[in-house]
Amino acid sequence: MIDLHTHTFASDGVLGPAELARRAEVAGLAALAITDHADASNLERLVGEIAAFVRETQPYLRIRLLAGVELTHVPPRQVAALARRCRQLGAAIVLVHGETVSEPVAPGTNRAAIEAGVDILAHPGLVTEEEARLAAANGVLLELSTRPSHGLANGHVVAVARAAGAGLVIDSDTHVPSDIMDPDRRRRVARGAGLTDADIERIDRAMAALVERLAPPTRIT
Ligand SMILES: [Zn+2]
Ligand SMILES: [Zn+2]
Repeated sequence: MIDLHTHTFASDGVLGPAELARRAEVAGLAALAITDHADASNLERLVGEIAAFVRETQPYLRIRLLAGVELTHVPPRQVAALARRCRQLGAAIVLVHGETVSEPVAPGTNRAAIEAGVDILAHPGLVTEEEARLAAANGVLLELSTRPSHGLANGHVVAVARAAGAGLVIDSDTHVPSDIMDPDRRRRVARGAGLTDADIERIDRAMAALVERLAPPTRIT
């Protein structure tokens, strides 16, 4: 089990990176991306801190860590430049906080993220089929969220992704320990959104391949 969307107290989560990683490892996760909320005010600090944490701590842990970021409520026309900066600063994975049905995210954010070629468009809400086709072409993965507020549109996201041939991920958007991904809840949320067990297995394989590509294993030297 892999989770590519989580928060620490570097933004609005309650755990530090080390405790989040430890709790995720105990929960059975094989890989975890730490993706705190970023905008132009804090991305240098956030990406620098999390990249340093992963670099220094990964050699001592079984769970595979990815230093990430979630560009959040960034004006759509600013998304591409900030995503580039995150990568230059050492982010292994870049998410954009998509147009969830539960927050007033600026219209155009989904499209901006897809055009910028970020790795994951988080909770994309009422994403259109045209946007999903572009996501498929650009290799941007659309996210199903086990978070109740963002998960309201999961069924729509599955239907649109299926029609457009876009790839999916399933993430927790963890902020507190009780959010940490649990295999039963993950499966229930995915099945409730219209995915079959075979679909879920395909998503699991795609997420594992993404981790291999973005965060090759490190060794204690
Ligand atoms: Zn948050
Ligand atoms: Zn988030």
